Amino acid sequence: MSSQRRTTQQSPSPLSPFQDDQILTDSQWTTLASIVDTIISPETQTSGENPKKTQLKAAVDTIKHNTNVTDEALLSEYLAESATSCPEFREAIHRLLAEQIHTQGRKELLSVLDALTNARTSWLLTGHLTPFAQLSLRQREKVIQSWATARLQIFRVLFRTFNDMTKAYWTRTSPTLGRVLSYPYTPINHSYGKGFDFPFVVFPPLPQGSTLVPATFETDVLIIGSGCTGAVAASVIARSGLEVLVAEKGYHWKPNHLPMSEKNGMVHLFANGGVTLSDTGKMGILAGSCFGGGGTVNWSASLQLQPFVRQEFAKKHNLPYFESSAFQHDMDAVCETMGVGTQAIKHNPGNQMLLDGAKKLGMKAKPVPQNTGGEAHQCGYCTLGCGSCGKKGPTESWLPDAARHGAKFVEGFQCEKVIFAADKTQDGKQIAIGAQGVWTSRDESGGVSGKVYRRPVTIYARRAVVVAAGALGGTALLLERSGIQNPHLGKHLKLHPVNTLFGVFDRDIMPWEGGILTSVVTEYENINSTGYGCKLECVTMLPSMVLPLMQWKSGLEWKVHAAKFKRMAGWISLARDEGEGEVYADPVDKYRVRVKYDTSKSDQKNIAVGLVALAKIAFVEGAREIHVGAAGVPPFIRRQSVRTSSSAIYASQTGGNAGDTASINDPEFLQWLSRLELLAVNGLPGDAGQVSAHQMGTARMGSSPTNSVVNSRGAVWNTQSLFVADTSVFPGASGVNPMITGMAIARGIARGIVEDLGLPSTQQAPTAKL
Ligand SMILES: Cc1cc2nc3c(=O)[nH]c(=O)nc-3n(C[C@H](O)[C@H](O)[C@H](O)COP(=O)(O)OP(=O)(O)OC[C@H]3O[C@@H](n4cnc5c(N)ncnc54)[C@H](O)[C@@H]3O)c2cc1C
Repeated sequence: MSSQRRTTQQSPSPLSPFQDDQILTDSQWTTLASIVDTIISPETQTSGENPKKTQLKAAVDTIKHNTNVTDEALLSEYLAESATSCPEFREAIHRLLAEQIHTQGRKELLSVLDALTNARTSWLLTGHLTPFAQLSLRQREKVIQSWATARLQIFRVLFRTFNDMTKAYWTRTSPTLGRVLSYPYTPINHSYGKGFDFPFVVFPPLPQGSTLVPATFETDVLIIGSGCTGAVAASVIARSGLEVLVAEKGYHWKPNHLPMSEKNGMVHLFANGGVTLSDTGKMGILAGSCFGGGGTVNWSASLQLQPFVRQEFAKKHNLPYFESSAFQHDMDAVCETMGVGTQAIKHNPGNQMLLDGAKKLGMKAKPVPQNTGGEAHQCGYCTLGCGSCGKKGPTESWLPDAARHGAKFVEGFQCEKVIFAADKTQDGKQIAIGAQGVWTSRDESGGVSGKVYRRPVTIYARRAVVVAAGALGGTALLLERSGIQNPHLGKHLKLHPVNTLFGVFDRDIMPWEGGILTSVVTEYENINSTGYGCKLECVTMLPSMVLPLMQWKSGLEWKVHAAKFKRMAGWISLARDEGEGEVYADPVDKYRVRVKYDTSKSDQKNIAVGLVALAKIAFVEGAREIHVGAAGVPPFIRRQSVRTSSSAIYASQTGGNAGDTASINDPEFLQWLSRLELLAVNGLPGDAGQVSAHQMGTARMGSSPTNSVVNSRGAVWNTQSLFVADTSVFPGASGVNPMITGMAIARGIARGIVEDLGLPSTQQAPTAKL
């Protein structure tokens, strides 16, 4: 790292204004504020219900020790901050309620706030005959703590909902957190890449006074969705000489906007304002929604589908393609295009510890190939978009290649439905001829927050419609709105559920620096040859992405813990899920996806196997503290008398001079570990939430309409000229991070479309130097 640490400032990407005056009544807001200000609580010596002087001093000392911050005024400001003292927090919470939460969820939340406002009903939830907001801070804290472990599930749901919401929005908006952590909001020594200048189609506004007339556009092939798979399909089909239009509901953000701020990035770059919650609230799902889709926000991990999964897809689902050399060629070709490799990787401490710890413990591990054009890519902030253009995702590789071969693009196009010809084929198939939707312009300054106009648009596709709108309902709901009926539509959702484990070290880790996910432990990926198991990987270490996953015991304790962030490394145990869920349209808003998914017991056990292994890795790598993301598991804190440098710990493993270090057989560690090991037998605690960034299935591929939505060439059963080419078609969970598998399948399907149209299929892949 250069000694000159230079920061940059990205161009602003403001959010559009919204009407918030009717979302909450005054009393509902007062109650909500009293809840969120208990979770992120003002801790001062001057308030009437201050923490004990000694407690506050201990907190300040711990923070100083872990941050090297000596500015007392900053530390007091940090501890005194409440969630609602940040104006941006208030705005973000109102936006959540106005735009991001579904109607039923909002209604339920508001009725809880009403109940807590009324003295009598509040008693049922708090045990106090006083409205919640009138309780003292410490009384409120006790109530919220009691919800965490209450026998009735409703209390635990309340705990989780308010906790997750508050921590997520505070970490995105706090004015002091970043300063306490020494966290630069843009990467150090960052340079903006040039990016590709995409020629987007723009539709003129309707003349004043005229009625709604759809604008029209004609092309050979319409591709709906510009993510990892739509982008590959666009490149392959455009290379055959066909006219291609890629239509995306999100917008393109040029490199100078990236990485975006945490608050705005979640809204502009992700589906549903950042996190899509399952109906039980236990699963938080991240999916990209912008030009480039998940490829714009993903972490560059480029693993190929493994033989045991390929065999399962081929045999169990009767899909020989997955065991064919054609599929291998498709995987190799997409890797070649993006310059996938390991040669330029420089592991950051979290990734290096994963490799080193696994080696010490005899677990199989390896570097993860990166789609970075064979070059080093160290920014660590790609979850909020890659401003350096070093990540060769869709916007740097496939979409520019498609453009060079004549493809056109529309951003801001929310596709409502696929349209069909009036007549069917002789064998009764519907013939897709295009799609309808609503296009929303940019504002006058080229952003999306000012005055915009909308225009209904019909796009006619002479040869084919390819749906690549993503497996988190983008594709399944679109097909359903288009009238496709199939019992498997929306079903078989796979998510690769994940739980986290964090180590706190006695040295600065600066976890946001360096490549995000450059190593993997594969030891437990195929437990007992079942085909199922877990992989151990690093997680993005941007504060607002991971601090919310850490358990909350009290306002003060959580803030002290959050302040240790620059000394943390974070890892995930990611299960190849055997269980499955489903997506369906919200009953009130047909465009909004709802998710049913509960991690199955066997998947939970597999995740727990991974957590045990991660705990051991963290221990041998010298973690002072080990924190498990799953609720109900207390942290392990290593005695202060034990030195924790990695070499000292390693010496203890190898019989060297261990001095006063503890070995992996340290009784205190083993005692703590035994609690975690029990989870591998019984499954995770009932309230342990999971997160996921991998959606698969929901329009799966198969051998007949009785077991699938599309055939082995991606064609929707009983239709003509309608294809699905995205991760929705996975017949099962990939077990590896799904980008390369999805891209390879999209390449195969796009080749098939070109071949079926009698055009020469492009075997040659474009290269990384795009
Ligand atoms: C934070 C994060 C990190 C990840 N890291 C990795 C990684 O390191 N390696 C890896 O292999 N995988 C990773 N993934 C997963 C990977 O990015 C996805 O599997 C991949 O993007 C899926 O591709 P897709 O084309 O199926 O869908 P997407 O890439 O999600 O694209 C679908 C697009 O369709 C658009 N769309 C949806 N509905 C409509 C509509 N009605 N009209 C118009 N457009 C619509 C969406 O806005 C979206 O842009 C990560 C994902 C996330 C979210």
